[in-house]
Amino acid sequence: VAKRLEKFKTTIFTQMSMLAVKHGAVNLGQGFPNFDGPDFVKEAAIQAIKEGKNQYARGYGVPDLNSAVASRFKKDSGLVVDPEKEVTVTSGCTEAIAATILGLINPGDEVVLFAPFYDSYEATLSMAGAKIKAITLRPPDFSIPIDELKAAVSKNTRAILMNTPHNPTGKMFTRKEMDTIASLCIENDVLVFSDEVYDKLAFEADHISIASLPGMYERTVTMNSLGKTFSLTGWKIGWAIAPPHLTWGVRQAHSYLTFATSTPMQSAAATALRAPDSYYEELKEDYNAKKAILVEGLKSVGFVVYPSSGTYFVIVDHTPFGLDNDVAFCEHLIQEVGVVAIPTSVFYLNPEDGKNLVRFTFCKDEETLREAVRRMKQKL
Ligand code: GLN
Repeated sequence: VAKRLEKFKTTIFTQMSMLAVKHGAVNLGQGFPNFDGPDFVKEAAIQAIKEGKNQYARGYGVPDLNSAVASRFKKDSGLVVDPEKEVTVTSGCTEAIAATILGLINPGDEVVLFAPFYDSYEATLSMAGAKIKAITLRPPDFSIPIDELKAAVSKNTRAILMNTPHNPTGKMFTRKEMDTIASLCIENDVLVFSDEVYDKLAFEADHISIASLPGMYERTVTMNSLGKTFSLTGWKIGWAIAPPHLTWGVRQAHSYLTFATSTPMQSAAATALRAPDSYYEELKEDYNAKKAILVEGLKSVGFVVYPSSGTYFVIVDHTPFGLDNDVAFCEHLIQEVGVVAIPTSVFYLNPEDGKNLVRFTFCKDEETLREAVRRMKQKL
């Protein structure tokens, strides 16, 4: 394996989902729903296949999807973007992140991110040869240590990579935190790469796109996807929205990474994004009910549960159960209890920072959540 990838192992999500199958454990690890996306979207995909929309799509997205993304973004953020010049469709948000980093970061460029972080950030930054600076968000509220951020950002910073609502903590960046990020970026001429795939799972506050703050659109790449919002994580449809001068870089990388993504799925994605507001309201209600079951359940088992304002994840402190670290705890949980969670130490530059914390997801049907809680109450 190439040196730049030597330190990375099989992703923790793959490892844990394989163990779940092997041990017949209830999988509250990898964030994928165990229920299906809506019929009107699945029908649209079948229709598109039958209508012969089966050859290469236009590289940067089928026109109808580029338009649907722009319309949705206007509704959500108030920003008007040109679907032809400022929207690039990718294979999931993970490719949007890769295309953004590879298309806009030079070897040696400094990039600031927040730990814990989604694992692809570090690996992709490493492929680009970036110099990573991590700011650690700490429990109980995982707020940004503003002084540390100010000390980390300078004229040498090329970009800040952020994610709100935040995986794995469930934190939502506050308006005040975003104002600070924005003013640092403007002052030091820094770009922002913003991963907003959980924007429709914002429970405790309204989601804010940092691109909508004054002076920010021109320096921001906003990334999102279909998977979480429509419970179709396997479709791998994502996108990046950015002004033309940044879209240029994103598209150059995208053209040679994947060239284009699945034509019929893009067509169905456009239909999905035109869902009425009631779809989004119901999604949030359903997830609120699931969240309550898991959070109450985890508390009754004896975990210290940290508040989660968004995403379908919740972080707990496992130390009341006396295991050495997050990995040992998760191994015990799989083998002795039959439940899978995600150890968080892989989401830090310094694994020690995550040794007390594990992540559970509640994107599962209610019976699955209750069964996981039952097992933990009985055997932990
Ligand atoms: N984003 C999902 C999670 O955090 C999983 C993504 C993946 O498996 N690579 O669980």
